[in-house]
Amino acid sequence: MHEIRSWFAQPAAGLALVLAATGAPIQVSGQEVPVGRTATRNEATNARLKQPRENAAVAEAIRGAARRLAHARCRGLLDEFADASGQPLRAVLAAQGTDAGGYLDRIFFYDANASACEGTMLAGATGPGSRVIRVCGRRFERTMTESSSYGEALSIHEMLHSLGLGENPPTTQYMTSRVRAQCQQ
Ligand SMILES: [Zn+2]
Repeated sequence: MHEIRSWFAQPAAGLALVLAATGAPIQVSGQEVPVGRTATRNEATNARLKQPRENAAVAEAIRGAARRLAHARCRGLLDEFADASGQPLRAVLAAQGTDAGGYLDRIFFYDANASACEGTMLAGATGPGSRVIRVCGRRFERTMTESSSYGEALSIHEMLHSLGLGENPPTTQYMTSRVRAQCQQ
């Protein structure tokens, strides 16, 4: 885990993302995922932070990301980005026999180390292809309060890394701009 300055200084050292509060947030549609009896998605059991309120904020972000990924335009990101071998992320998903929403349920969000959160980090995938996302819970909870669309974009951003997308290139700023452009509803 690296906060943004050391991460920029050492681009190969790891993956980290800081979503700075710049620009307009993605518009949220207000569309809700139907609450079914099974409600697995609504419980977001893949949010595994220790502090309940922080965990609830992450779960909310996962649900919002799933709503965005229900739109084909947002899923177009899977054609736009590829893994290190050049394979589009949509093909990576297909090889795993799942879709974007299904994959989102297969990645796990845990607390980042306290030392990693001393800087400006919000969350980071532990590496391309890893299903573990580390989150600075207190900062993430605050982000969700201020702009849930950022937290949701972050979740999609990290999901793309989990599918195999490297960092730098594309830059964090470019990825974030693409997620915002394609996944606003
Ligand atoms: Zn990134």
